[in-house]
Amino acid sequence: MAQKLAAGNWKMNGTEASLAEIDAMLAAFPAPGCKVLICPPATLLDRLSTRAEGSAIATGAQDCHMNASGAHTGDISAEMIKDAGGTYVILGHSERRTDHGETDEIVNAKTMAATGAGLIAVVCVGETLEQRDAGETLDLVGTQLAGSIPEGVTGENLVVAYEPVWAIGTGRIPTIEQIVEVHDFMRARLVERFGAEIGNAVSLLYGGSVKPSNASEIFAVANVDGALVGGASLKAADFGAIIDALQ
Ligand code: PEP
Repeated sequence: MAQKLAAGNWKMNGTEASLAEIDAMLAAFPAPGCKVLICPPATLLDRLSTRAEGSAIATGAQDCHMNASGAHTGDISAEMIKDAGGTYVILGHSERRTDHGETDEIVNAKTMAATGAGLIAVVCVGETLEQRDAGETLDLVGTQLAGSIPEGVTGENLVVAYEPVWAIGTGRIPTIEQIVEVHDFMRARLVERFGAEIGNAVSLLYGGSVKPSNASEIFAVANVDGALVGGASLKAADFGAIIDALQ
């Protein structure tokens, strides 16, 4: 049985002042009935992890390099994320795939580095609007899953997030039927490749314009185990309402 997870991706948002939102969240949810994760920008990871230590909130990063160390200006490694108190890392987000040319092969190598260092990888997949309109969604998601996830992952160190690119930050979400179709497909592909025990234990998150107003109907879908939330994770009140809908 996959763990329920409410994950917040702060993207390139947040300074010291934003940490007050975490205090509000900790006060509102001292013991949430689901796993809660915040992935702040790298500059805040250490501070946020210290603040959340011993609480129900886990912390993580939004990317890592595939190498453990070396001449890679501006990058951070999985080991550095661990050192800063993070336990998760988001990999292959569509903004990384688009802005930084990350291919499935690169995401695969990063996922290996992350899980090898003991982090939980949140691997993102999802189609563009053009791909959806062309009827290519399942093919694309299948290709991304096959290419981005290395052998040897487990239900404990892999989370998969389905994030249609056209739903991220747009206020648009797929129909519930479309979410059901993709999540059922992803579950079947994971079970086929890794066996039922691992495939059924991987948490499958939906991401893309999740808000307090639509969270409950999305979480009612059988193979949706939680959400990867961008904009609505920046405010304790909004993210709290989404956590509430999940727990
Ligand atoms: C995201 O960045 O992963 C995301 C889903 O963003 P938003 O919730 O703002 O659409």
